[in-house]
Amino acid sequence: MMKYDCKIQTSIENNYFRPKSMRSLWVAVLLVFFVFPSLVEAETYRISGIVTYSDGSTVNYNDVEIICQSQEYDCHPFRGTESNTDMYGRFTLELDVEEYHDGAELILNVRNENFSHIIDISEMQNSSQNFVDNDIQLLQNRPPAPIFSGFTCGLIIFSLAFGMVLVRTATRLMTPVGRAEFVGYRAPRIVECPECHGRIEQHRLISHLIVEHEIEPLEAGEIAGIVFSKIEMK
Ligand SMILES: [Zn+2]
Repeated sequence: MMKYDCKIQTSIENNYFRPKSMRSLWVAVLLVFFVFPSLVEAETYRISGIVTYSDGSTVNYNDVEIICQSQEYDCHPFRGTESNTDMYGRFTLELDVEEYHDGAELILNVRNENFSHIIDISEMQNSSQNFVDNDIQLLQNRPPAPIFSGFTCGLIIFSLAFGMVLVRTATRLMTPVGRAEFVGYRAPRIVECPECHGRIEQHRLISHLIVEHEIEPLEAGEIAGIVFSKIEMK
């Protein structure tokens, strides 16, 4: 009994002390995450501009991505940051920069063309529009419009389908049955009479049953119905 008491005692002690130590750990974590960065004073640096092709038309809905030269270490934290141009060709890149990033060279990559941008924090701070201007003019020409290439693609598919219909119609017209079907004639289906196992045209079966086998019209209809439904199943 003494041993049990002792165990309970220690477990209570442990539970009593754990929250306290946990709490101080959390305080330390919060300090690291919230207090220290604010001491360094990161600020938001925005690069914005309009991207155009060589002919001056805007580059819409296209990636603008930051890549870096391998020796430019101050660029590396921003590598991979990207923005999409809107319907007017405007992009806006947002970076959390610190004092020591001032003067670092970023490479803006658009459609495999590279453009240099030097971080200038004072320009950002003095800017009335809350971003640093960086318009980009590409050397490449505007690619063919996606609507036009979509139309061309549709035209090819349509002509392929039309060609297939033509070929199929032509092969059908080569046989007598096909020619007859083409002008609206359908060959009557041949069924087997369940009474005499003779082969007979579908629409003659009922009268055949009544006349040849002397079956009541109602019953003849039922028998014919069974024969027809068997054909449908096939
Ligand atoms: Zn028969």
